[in-house]
Amino acid sequence: MRIAVYPGSFDPVTNGHLDIIKRSSRLFDKVIVAVLHNASKTPLFTVEEKMDLLSQVTSDITNVEIDSFSGLLADYVMENKISSIVKGLRAVSDFEYELQMALMNRKLNPDVETIFMMTSGEYSYLSSSIVKEVFKFNGCIKGLVPDEVIDAMKKKVSL
Ligand code: ADP
Repeated sequence: MRIAVYPGSFDPVTNGHLDIIKRSSRLFDKVIVAVLHNASKTPLFTVEEKMDLLSQVTSDITNVEIDSFSGLLADYVMENKISSIVKGLRAVSDFEYELQMALMNRKLNPDVETIFMMTSGEYSYLSSSIVKEVFKFNGCIKGLVPDEVIDAMKKKVSL
């Protein structure tokens, strides 16, 4: 069984993330979308809320599971018998950081391979942070994130 992990902050999940999830689910028997507990960032959504949104928007893909992790990705990979780490690449600016992470993860766990998937053209400028920024100033984010995410963001600001 070929298991891949797609790790990230997903604060919130965008259509760019969803595109990578769908495409990678065709390459592996199982894809675990793993939400990182990141103490150094102040997120909009809690890990549980992010996982819940991810479950909703991937409910039609049978071989996708949602989980969370903290600490080293290399440890999570070992504990869960994962063979590949899936990452998305949007622009050259993603490359340097992702190369560093891939090489470090290989050093920590030589059995794991990082697989890079190129963004789809229409999502190449899309990140969770730009979605939050546009939303904050009442810009239209329809088509950039699933509708469930727009509803959840509206609920957050009305609290
Ligand atoms: P961000 O906050 O930058 O959107 P995440 O940590 O949630 O990033 O991203 C998780 C993974 O998804 C990373 O490998 C990132 O490069 C990838 N990714 C994010 N947005 C896109 C996109 N629009 N197209 C392709 N890959 C993406």
